Amino acid sequence: MSGSRELNDRMRALPSVDRVMGLLSDLSPRVAAAVARRALEDARARVAAGEEAPGAEEVAAAARALVESDHLAALIPVINATGVLIHTNLGRVPLGREQLDAVTAVTRGYSNLEYDVVEGRRGTRYAHARSLITQLTGAEDALVVNNCAAAVLLVLATLCAGREVLISRGELIEIGGEFRIPDVMAASGARLVEVGTTNRTHLADFEKAITPDTAAFLKVHPSNYRVVGFTASVPGRDLARLARARGITFVHDLGSGLLGETPWGHTEEPLVPLALAEGADLVTFSGDKLLGGPQAGIVAGAAAPIAKLAKSPLLRALRVDKMTLAALQATLALYRDGRTESIPLWDMAATPAEELERRARTIARAVEERPADAAPGVKVEALPSRAVAGGGSLPGADFGSWAVGVRHPERSPQDVAARLRRGRLPVIGRIEDGVLLLDLRAVPERHDAQIVEALIGSLT
Ligand SMILES: *Cc1c(COP(=O)(O)O)cnc(C)c1O
Repeated sequence: MSGSRELNDRMRALPSVDRVMGLLSDLSPRVAAAVARRALEDARARVAAGEEAPGAEEVAAAARALVESDHLAALIPVINATGVLIHTNLGRVPLGREQLDAVTAVTRGYSNLEYDVVEGRRGTRYAHARSLITQLTGAEDALVVNNCAAAVLLVLATLCAGREVLISRGELIEIGGEFRIPDVMAASGARLVEVGTTNRTHLADFEKAITPDTAAFLKVHPSNYRVVGFTASVPGRDLARLARARGITFVHDLGSGLLGETPWGHTEEPLVPLALAEGADLVTFSGDKLLGGPQAGIVAGAAAPIAKLAKSPLLRALRVDKMTLAALQATLALYRDGRTESIPLWDMAATPAEELERRARTIARAVEERPADAAPGVKVEALPSRAVAGGGSLPGADFGSWAVGVRHPERSPQDVAARLRRGRLPVIGRIEDGVLLLDLRAVPERHDAQIVEALIGSLT
């Protein structure tokens, strides 16, 4: 009895919603009321668990923290200072002005998404990007879906369900934890038949494994790793010849999908036109890896299998949105016009290292010259760094880059990194050899001032 009276007294000591809201007058009344109530609910739970009632200031501070954590939990822009250009967790690749203008132009009003304006009747959303893709790749036909995983799924489910698909053991890849070839295969209803060994697979292995039930050969680009040492894989050209002779479909999943040589000279990545010229019936690739466009999956290749894909009931579930199509079309037009420098990914990759060094020095100097109340012993300096393409592209290759290196006398690099992540505009860096690095290769110059501000905030 006395216990519950004591609890009642402590509950009564809690501030009212109005009192807490009074301390949040800089917020809009709706937001202030909502977070004040949530913070008071938390406080009530803690009092019920035996704690003393917090004062109004403390509850108001907790309410303010809720506003911040709500902001950070929403989809917001961040600064990618990891040095990974194609960063799946950070939205893969940024889009440039022309790509975004195309999205705005098509989506501000209505569009001919599924309407044939010449004939004045229903059309198809799959027609728009088709001609650009076929021009740029040499394919007979093409189809765009939601992402490359969807493209592979559509191909397997439509052309191979209930039948066998032969794949080299060295290519049973997992990408980003979710896309695993055996799982996609199982979901499609096709039967996976592993051929060869992890490090060596020969054409004869494929030949021996063919049965009347074999629907396709699937060649998968081992995007995010390299098999080195005593290795052998079957060239696409040989697989294509065997597939053709035996009436089997040859599907080459490229993942990254480069249309031509890169400005940065790594040429190990298979080019889409080359894979098609080798004789693949279908190739699949992503819109938002080395292509530098929106999330999308592209199937390009022979007209007959693509016509089957276009009739698949699955297509409706994997279909691509008009915003994506608009951005993809604009991206492809930049390739057609030889203007890849307008694609942010290509621009970032091509930035001379000296320019990044100059920016890193300017940022470091601005932070070093911060006001005197700053913690002493903080060291901020320009350091040479290595950036990578990421997104499972160009494995093993890296680019010379520059970073702002940060050392704090009392705070661990993890602590400083966490403070940078929790700002209004989160800055995501990486820690290397105990030093926090903010690599500038994937940071547009317009963000440099914000990096200075964020660094000063996280160090003082
Ligand atoms: C990345 C990748 C995929 C998946 O592409 P998403 O566009 O992320 O769905 C499939 N296959 C390969 C070889 C890849 O590299």
